[in-house]
Amino acid sequence: MQSKTLDDLDSGALRGATVLVRADLNVPLAEGAVADDTRIRASLPTVRWLREAGARVVVLSHLGRPGGAPDASLSLRPVAQRLQELLGTDVRFVEAVAGTALAEAVAALPAGGVLVAENTRFDPGETGGDEALADRWAELADVYVNDAFGSAHRAHASTTAVARAVRRRGGEAVAGRLLEAELRFLERVLEAPDRPLVAILGGAKISGKIDVVKALLPRVDRLLVGGAMANTFFRALGLETGRSLVEDDRVDVARATMEAAGDRLVLPVDCVVADALEAAAATRIVPRARVGTEETVGDVGTSTREAFASLIADARTVIWNGPMGVFELEPFREGTVAVAQAVARATDAGALSVVGGGDSASAAEVAGVSDRLSHVSTGGGAFLELVAGVPLPGVEALSPRDGEGS
Ligand code: ADP
Ligand code: MG
Repeated sequence: MQSKTLDDLDSGALRGATVLVRADLNVPLAEGAVADDTRIRASLPTVRWLREAGARVVVLSHLGRPGGAPDASLSLRPVAQRLQELLGTDVRFVEAVAGTALAEAVAALPAGGVLVAENTRFDPGETGGDEALADRWAELADVYVNDAFGSAHRAHASTTAVARAVRRRGGEAVAGRLLEAELRFLERVLEAPDRPLVAILGGAKISGKIDVVKALLPRVDRLLVGGAMANTFFRALGLETGRSLVEDDRVDVARATMEAAGDRLVLPVDCVVADALEAAAATRIVPRARVGTEETVGDVGTSTREAFASLIADARTVIWNGPMGVFELEPFREGTVAVAQAVARATDAGALSVVGGGDSASAAEVAGVSDRLSHVSTGGGAFLELVAGVPLPGVEALSPRDGEGS
């Protein structure tokens, strides 16, 4: 770990101290209530630890994209309510992002109390990384804790500017339990993995992930590619892809990648095709060279599933991002489920497995294997940037550990 964590704090000195926690409480809402509380649960270890140390815990988070202005439908109030239920203790909510109302609520908070401020993105300064907004938060805080892995790739006021502002005032800015766990797992996978290291990449687009492909190729023993991403590689091989999703402007990159990768890059050999990607679609499985001009590729075929599963079975480390097909629709689900199960079996047999990406995490849920994987990351963009070797601004802004630079 390059940055300090909760364990680097003097817990005796936290009693009565105000600790600002940037959590990732960006959960889906339905009819004004929390529809999936996974991210709230993921934030509990940090909040509990700070409460037990007697800190006054002030939680900041964004929710959705209100665009810098208050939007009642994106209030954190129901999230604070759910946090209260999960913690089993009183959680206060203040309808202010910063300023006097927040300062008064913080002043009234007892040691061990928890307060949730309003959606940080209701303030136009949040996404721009506004220093003045950051200073208003820093004035209230003795310590800043970043536990929002899902936002660590953003240089926003509540992720980077406030960390620097707290440090300027002599306070510490440290990683919370969730952020720490995410970084440690990714470090283990990327820096000294047990081999073979097998990476699986899928999803809709190659464009958002080409840096990930380039960063992974020199490190992995095998890179298995599925999803619509594979179609762009098919095109680079000169194959017919019909009406499938292909990124024409990435065909050259795909070709260059294939040439550089040699047999480390493993593409699907067959595909599930249909007239359209619809829930009621009639499907066929064809070799990849037999996709019709009017057909659309929606999943990897059975031979591919077997080939991928046997490579995954040999792995000692697996990193997975992106579904193998349109797993949201039943006719195109099986390839992703087969890969998820193969990763779970490899993990049962002792491999370390890390899955990242919003859709990949829900695919693991759909396949019923989430509990059998070593780590399911809560971050999408942050996970991909970390895998691509891009430093995360939210981590860089924290207090460095001794001897690790600044
Ligand atoms: P993650 O969120 O895990 O990073 P992505 O967002 O990159 O994953 O990709 C997920 C999306 O890719 C899913 O919505 C899925 O339907 C889509 N997808 C996968 N395979 C195909 C395909 N063959 N054609 C069209 N879309 C696909
Ligand atoms: Mg996605």
